[in-house]
Amino acid sequence: MKMNYLYPRIVGKINDDHSLYIDVKNIPGKNQAVLIDCGNNSTLAVKDFIKISTVLISHAHIDHLIGFDNLIRMNLREEKRIRIIGPAPLSTLLHHRLRGYTWNLVSGSKFELEIWDIFPRIIKKFLLRCCEKFAKKHFLEKISSHNPLFSNKWYECSYIILEHGIPSIGYSLKEHDQMKVDKNQLSALMLPEGKWIQKLKTGDFSSGESIIIDGTTWNFKNLHEHLITISPGFKVCYITDTICNKRLHKQIVRFIQGAHQFYCESSFLNKDAALAEKYYHLTAEQVGHLAKDAHVERLYLIHFSQRYTSPDVLLAEAKKVFSNTSFPHVPRHSRITRKV
Ligand SMILES: [Zn+2]
Repeated sequence: MKMNYLYPRIVGKINDDHSLYIDVKNIPGKNQAVLIDCGNNSTLAVKDFIKISTVLISHAHIDHLIGFDNLIRMNLREEKRIRIIGPAPLSTLLHHRLRGYTWNLVSGSKFELEIWDIFPRIIKKFLLRCCEKFAKKHFLEKISSHNPLFSNKWYECSYIILEHGIPSIGYSLKEHDQMKVDKNQLSALMLPEGKWIQKLKTGDFSSGESIIIDGTTWNFKNLHEHLITISPGFKVCYITDTICNKRLHKQIVRFIQGAHQFYCESSFLNKDAALAEKYYHLTAEQVGHLAKDAHVERLYLIHFSQRYTSPDVLLAEAKKVFSNTSFPHVPRHSRITRKV
């Protein structure tokens, strides 16, 4: 049976400053979560805040960072390190933000933030410690930028640099493809199941390697071709606050290719394309074309200009180009009750 690990949902109301919360389930140990952007997340349950292990920030405009303080407040007593990734100089901005509070009662805290500043060609990592009252920004390392940005046993995260007058970052989380054995082919070849199947699935064999099964010699590479089918891993993409010229259209389409869920800003109608360009945003029609050209499965519209009385007009415009478009499902609200 195919196992899924990533479960995304939008936090807040439909036309709110949004965040995308991605539950990471079915992994050993404590479940985790990835949060994309820190919009108005005051409706997120405390247990959900505590699960967050990684935060991906598109850019530092206030509507994408307004919920940062909630994230810190809910995790302050936790013995954990949250990784926060976004465009440089994110570490400086967040450091200043934390220095704006008084921290005289947290000396025993084990809570830490590891912040990655994304530059065009490099990534710099820094550490902020609660027990030090977030006073010092420790330099950890500098690495050359690469995709995937990070990867683990279950999924990988990639990024794309967009154009919003400033760099804005789009993100993609994708479960690894899963190798499955074609049972019909297996019985057609009259092969018994055994440990060798696991080796076949992982691809952990050399090109000329063979195996003797019931007295017959089989080449692993041939067996792999005949017996293994690839089930593509679930992919969720998030693009917000960018223009879309020819170059970016091509790059974004490649980046979101085949996504099962594509969350995208849809700020303006096509009749207001001049405004979209002026404020470095997308029109609903452009978003529809991105989804269509990238053959995504489902497009969810987020982030609408307040100039329209209802976002329904934006949905209608995107749907004309890509019919499998909707607003995301909005979760039930809960209250923040935790005290530090
Ligand atoms: Zn913005």
